[in-house]
Amino acid sequence: MSIVVVGSVALDSVETPAGSVEAALGGSAVYFATAASFFQTVVRLVGVVGDDFDQVHVDFLRDRGVDLTGLERVAGGKTFHWKGHYLQDLNVAQTLATELNVFGDFQPKLPETYRDSDYLFLANIHPTLQLQVLRQMHAPRLKVCDTMNLWIETTRQELLQTIREIDVLILNDGEARQLTGESNLIRAAHAILALGPSRVVVKKGEHGAFTLTQDSFFAAPAYPLEQIVDPTGAGDTFAGGFMGYIVSAQDLSEQSFRKAILYGTVLASFNVQDFSLNRQRHLTYPEIEERFEKLAESMRI
Ligand code: AMP
Repeated sequence: MSIVVVGSVALDSVETPAGSVEAALGGSAVYFATAASFFQTVVRLVGVVGDDFDQVHVDFLRDRGVDLTGLERVAGGKTFHWKGHYLQDLNVAQTLATELNVFGDFQPKLPETYRDSDYLFLANIHPTLQLQVLRQMHAPRLKVCDTMNLWIETTRQELLQTIREIDVLILNDGEARQLTGESNLIRAAHAILALGPSRVVVKKGEHGAFTLTQDSFFAAPAYPLEQIVDPTGAGDTFAGGFMGYIVSAQDLSEQSFRKAILYGTVLASFNVQDFSLNRQRHLTYPEIEERFEKLAESMRI
């Protein structure tokens, strides 16, 4: 089974209380694809880079089995660059710079081999790009979308159009409040269902995540960690674990979505333990299963 993902492929400069990195591998599509690649699924990536994007990053993704037919390289162009820092509150990134560079005039053209995929993930990127990719897919079984505060603020109408056409919206608590104007998160989640999706997943950083439909509710805690090195990519990694499980299980039942929330939580818990994708580089599937069991056990009464 395969999943198509469109999102940013980035070089990130990040500072946290634990240290900093310059122009490290990042981007919503990269975190997502890497996390999803731990499951029995082929991830087909759509994105664009400049010629400053090192071949070692391409090799890393290829070694993880990610299909890069849809990754364009623009000669003379510069890769998307995000610069951010986290001060006291590790749940909230402060953006210092967003340089779209080659994403500024990217016109995604989906390879023919991608169009029949059953699953689609619209990772965080300009909502018009998300919509362009969605429109080129034939008939995906499940369309899932993520976004961020920048797009809610600056491209609200385009984002609402994308949200109307998807099945599941994944976003964090602050974004859910910002999108709906509701401060109560349950009201916010219901308001999101009224915008089109049949399911919403709300991430609350160290306080876990919940998923809600018209007739179901499920909440999970975050995996308990004593130290967080770099929260960057936690949301995209969560989505990668969540979708990786759903696609490999090929099961869209409530029970399956509940397990997916736990897998997303576990993948994100590994990612925050090092900068960039460094923890995922040497992560193994048995380690994922071990944390999944511990988390599931902690929820039993
Ligand atoms: P997360 O911490 O999961 O919300 O996502 C962090 C990743 O999002 C970083 O690797 C950034 O490169 C990427 N990112 C930051 N701002 C944007 C943006 N405006 N559009 C797309 N990707 C972004």
